[in-house]
Amino acid sequence: MDLELKDKVAIVTGGSKGIGEAIVRSFIAEGAQVVNANRSTAEGEAMAAEYAAQGRQCVFVQADLSETDACRRVVDETMRRFGRIDALVNNAGANDGVGLDAGPDAFVASLWRNLVHYYSLVHFALDALKASRGAIVNIGSKVSATGQGGTSAYAAAKGAINALTREWAVDLAPHGIRVNAVLPAEVMTPLYARWLETLDDPAAAQRDIEALIPLEQRFTTAREIADAVVFLASVRSGHTTGQIIYPDGGYTHLDRKCTVSTAAQLQS
Ligand code: NAP
Repeated sequence: MDLELKDKVAIVTGGSKGIGEAIVRSFIAEGAQVVNANRSTAEGEAMAAEYAAQGRQCVFVQADLSETDACRRVVDETMRRFGRIDALVNNAGANDGVGLDAGPDAFVASLWRNLVHYYSLVHFALDALKASRGAIVNIGSKVSATGQGGTSAYAAAKGAINALTREWAVDLAPHGIRVNAVLPAEVMTPLYARWLETLDDPAAAQRDIEALIPLEQRFTTAREIADAVVFLASVRSGHTTGQIIYPDGGYTHLDRKCTVSTAAQLQS
């Protein structure tokens, strides 16, 4: 299938590592030009150089997206370089464990890291997205549907992202802009690996989680998330909007009977 993304321009936030990096690479594999907006610099600059050597565009913009001016700068720089925006993928974020004990200031600070920049980027990119009849894909989390415990702010941010996906799909349908969300559950990324390392026995914890995933008892790959995102950003999903998609091997929704026997076998 030709996704018709050749020479289209996509902004990907947090595109230097993990799921964001996979999204950047999937867009470029389809011929798109990408602006990667990321807080740290090393991996983003290395990716930009790697693709420049192949004659491909993977522009790196250093930005801490918890600052509103940085969000504006990402859009301005994209317009300066390419003059258009066809897709915006809001991905940057982290489950930061700001729970009920952390207090209101920590809660609000987490929302700036995980939620407000999703709104700000759409706000600043709106004219360009209207001009291209572009697409927005928001990366959420299964936590928005299941809860997790100990992470009130992240759960609130991801819940709001589901709501905003529907809200913006309604707002922007008259302009031909589609808005969808992709919700990972268990994907091995630098962030996830850091969390596993905080546990007493990371390997055993990983095996326990894998046993709970109905399809093939394995984590979803970042590439599997990325390909779903890039498809949703493409005109080949031209009548899909306001959808919340879970590429998670059935982890969030399938009948617990699917996994109880596997988990029991592994524990015996
Ligand atoms: P990751 O490995 O930490 O990669 C995230 C990237 O985003 C990093 O390069 C990070 O930059 C960047 N970033 C984070 N906050 C930023 C900010 N304020 N401004 C600019 N860049 C920022 O994380 P991941 O696991 O790929 O997660 C990506 C998305 O998927 C997140 O929204 C997360 O909530 C969601 N998710 C992941 C999983 C999973 O299993 N991995 C499950 C559910 C949802 P630095 O290099 O500076 O850290």
